[in-house]
Amino acid sequence: MSARAERYLAEIGIAVYRRRRPAGAATGVADAALVAAGAPATVEWSPPTAREAENEVWERLATEVRACTLCGLHKTRTQTVFGVGRRDAELLVIGEAPGADEDRQGEPFVGRAGQLLNAMLRAIGLPRDEVYIANILKCRPPNNRDPQPEEASACTPYLSRQIALVRPRAILAVGRIAAQWLLQLDSPIGRLRGRVFHYGEAGTPLIVTYHPAYLLRSPLAKATAWTDLCMVRDLLQRRA
Ligand code: URA
Repeated sequence: MSARAERYLAEIGIAVYRRRRPAGAATGVADAALVAAGAPATVEWSPPTAREAENEVWERLATEVRACTLCGLHKTRTQTVFGVGRRDAELLVIGEAPGADEDRQGEPFVGRAGQLLNAMLRAIGLPRDEVYIANILKCRPPNNRDPQPEEASACTPYLSRQIALVRPRAILAVGRIAAQWLLQLDSPIGRLRGRVFHYGEAGTPLIVTYHPAYLLRSPLAKATAWTDLCMVRDLLQRRA
């Protein structure tokens, strides 16, 4: 494993064992009972690959989200909606919050808006399973009301950890709520779309477009959204 991968794993809380690990211990602390029962005190142990270690971090994060009670939305959700797609996707799509269909199925963007989002992504050569899709909120706000700032604040650390794990080359923020929250700006979406922002410490290019639910209501805006999608496509086609 490269030193860079190891440093990255350390940053996200994964210790990489270099040489020997005490027998039977998952954490590096010798399991006295196993040793007393005749197990060798140490065993040769090959460190997890970077991929295995990352998968473990993903599973831990998903488990945390499933059990989350940080805001009141846990009381009304059917289930949490963690996110879906390639964990090493070049493009991360971020929406607002689960709706009724997503709350029922546990997956983001599965309703009519989701179908349109899939078609938009396909049109730039990115089938749904090639990208990663998540929302600002992991739980559905009752009656699809807008997320409240305290709900978004409580949920954002989960999204930040997803972003750190995916390390996308670009982020597509769909809709006003996602765009304004991620950019911490209150400009109307018409002023946020059509340009490239840079998000977070990694400076990940972020492009804003209209929410597909809005496009279903206002099909004339699809042409404008298409130019945003082309911007994403061009950005990804530029080699890093
Ligand atoms: N709208 C969103 O913003 N996210 C979903 O997952 C579904 C609808």
